[in-house]
Amino acid sequence: MTKYARQILEIVNKAKEHPTAEQVYLKLKNKQPKVVLATIYNNLNMLYREGYIRKISVEGWPDRYDNANKHDHLVCKVCGKLTDLHVDDLTETLSGQIGEEMLSYELIVKHVCDDCKGRIAAVNKR
Ligand SMILES: [Zn+2]
Ligand SMILES: [Zn+2]
Repeated sequence: MTKYARQILEIVNKAKEHPTAEQVYLKLKNKQPKVVLATIYNNLNMLYREGYIRKISVEGWPDRYDNANKHDHLVCKVCGKLTDLHVDDLTETLSGQIGEEMLSYELIVKHVCDDCKGRIAAVNKR
């Protein structure tokens, strides 16, 4: 693995906020001022393909990256914020349903986060 790939993996693994490629870029740029955005995209794709990291795609929002540990996500429909969810593993149930071995599944639960609920309530009061 190249030096950039290692540093990008470290940034994604440490991040709590599910960073986008741009956010990873800004963090790496602090350490590696010469790095370009295309390098970030190439390395993120490589790390994703090789299974080192996860990519979370939600319609209407840029892709976000996350550590590879098994967990699911709650996403705010208004601001797109992702929160980790830990629910029982559905692999067995799902492979039972399809009657064959499965590779993976993505569970994304939508809600309106507390911040957005507060903002909406404030607007409605005016
Ligand atoms: Zn929100
Ligand atoms: Zn996560």
